[in-house]
Amino acid sequence: MSEHTFDLVILGAGSGGYAAALRASQLGMTVGLIEKHKVGGTCLHVGCIPTKALLHAAEVADAARDSAKFGVRATLEGIDVPAVTAYREGIIASKYKGLQGLIKARGITTIEGEGRLTSPTTVQVGEQTITGKNVILATGSYSRSLPGLEIGGRVITSEQALQLDYVPKKVAVLGGGVIGVEFSSVWRSWGAEVVIIEALPHLVPNEDEAISKQFERAYRKRGIDFKLGVRFQGVTQDDNGVVVTLESGETIEADLLLVAVGRGPMTANLGFEEVGVAMDRGFVLTDERLRTNVPGVYAVGDIVPGLQLAHRGFQHGIFVAEEIAGLQPVVISDVNVPKVTYSEPEVASVGLTEAKAKEQYGEAQIASYDYNLAGNGKSHILETAGIIKVIRVVDGPVVGVHMIGARVGELIGEAQLAVNWDAHPEDIAPLLHAHPTQNEALGEAFLALAGKPLHG
Ligand code: FAD
Repeated sequence: MSEHTFDLVILGAGSGGYAAALRASQLGMTVGLIEKHKVGGTCLHVGCIPTKALLHAAEVADAARDSAKFGVRATLEGIDVPAVTAYREGIIASKYKGLQGLIKARGITTIEGEGRLTSPTTVQVGEQTITGKNVILATGSYSRSLPGLEIGGRVITSEQALQLDYVPKKVAVLGGGVIGVEFSSVWRSWGAEVVIIEALPHLVPNEDEAISKQFERAYRKRGIDFKLGVRFQGVTQDDNGVVVTLESGETIEADLLLVAVGRGPMTANLGFEEVGVAMDRGFVLTDERLRTNVPGVYAVGDIVPGLQLAHRGFQHGIFVAEEIAGLQPVVISDVNVPKVTYSEPEVASVGLTEAKAKEQYGEAQIASYDYNLAGNGKSHILETAGIIKVIRVVDGPVVGVHMIGARVGELIGEAQLAVNWDAHPEDIAPLLHAHPTQNEALGEAFLALAGKPLHG
């Protein structure tokens, strides 16, 4: 038995946990960071970074396939998946090493092993008792399945999808949310047949409806098949593949079924309930300052109900470290967290959808403008189609920006400043947008909503 005492103990070293550790150490706290796997968590090892590397390799394949229309003669000979994996793992290894170095340089103590909360101030890791004046719960999430749908063999989640060393011929994807459409994008670019099954009426169903519809058109054009508003009933598998049955009775044959129906909180059997932490369906309940009902115990990242995104986890981690240090940081609501889906085409948004804005402010108080990327020079050069939609309150601030098109994720910075700072389109419209960039399209949408459409 050994005992270790810190100012702050953090259970889980993913985006939320390690960001809290880095900020707390900067603020002079001693930190014990407990991790059962690898610091960096889901995002670095099996989430954001590996999938974005795959998406880049998919974009390169598309560029080779489509090169002739730009006057470049290249042929796509094939996809060497093990080589793609080596490229991807190289990025992860380098970022992992950098993070380990930073944690060490900041004097943060990492404790390897599976932790369990045993009191509001202690976490047990094997024989070690780790005590802190404050504790942050940051244990993240896991790929969820549906009741009765067992993962194994040809029925896989995103984690097994990352382990594949070949391009499947045909994949069925259960779930048309971010993870489902991103993997579909990769496999389609690499030549696979893809069919997505989504219970809701749209792909990327959390986005503004106009964006979802445009996304569906783009996916159809790419030859990605999808079935909307349909319920999965069951799947059988053998050596040759899977047969997926829908409630309608329709069946789909494929090599694999990717289950991408969302992520559940990793909170079972970790002592949270025993210590009295209030929970709801496995998620840890907090107030807006991320305090649980147990004094001194905070929660961050994917275990807190709301958007499950790495930058939200980072922001939570930094917020709680500053909160504990008494700096009274500003609360950022989930509504104003930027979201990007890195498929081809990309989708990026921040703030209220048109439907939500109308609900909140009343239809007459909302003005919205859709800028068609066909009018933007850089979009022509990139040969991308799409829209940039800006929603404002009449005579008031920008409350939502929704975009679809190649690389629009890179435009979300300005959009999120506008929404988070309650900027009026009149404030932003006079700002310069470099030419030729797709950023100009955002500028033009602001101009139009300020009553001065330049080209419209
Ligand atoms: P995690 O990153 O899951 O970290 C939790 C850590 O806690 C893990 O390292 C785990 O090993 C550890 N842990 C759990 N229990 C214990 C215990 N008992 N003892 C010790 N350690 C424990 N987000 C984006 O913003 N952009 C993206 O492009 C993006 N792409 C994604 C793609 C995929 C395929 C997936 C699966 C996710 C993606 N995400 C993306 C989501 C992002 O990865 C998560 O939102 C983020 O990792 C959440 O951070 P977290 O700190 O809450 O949890």
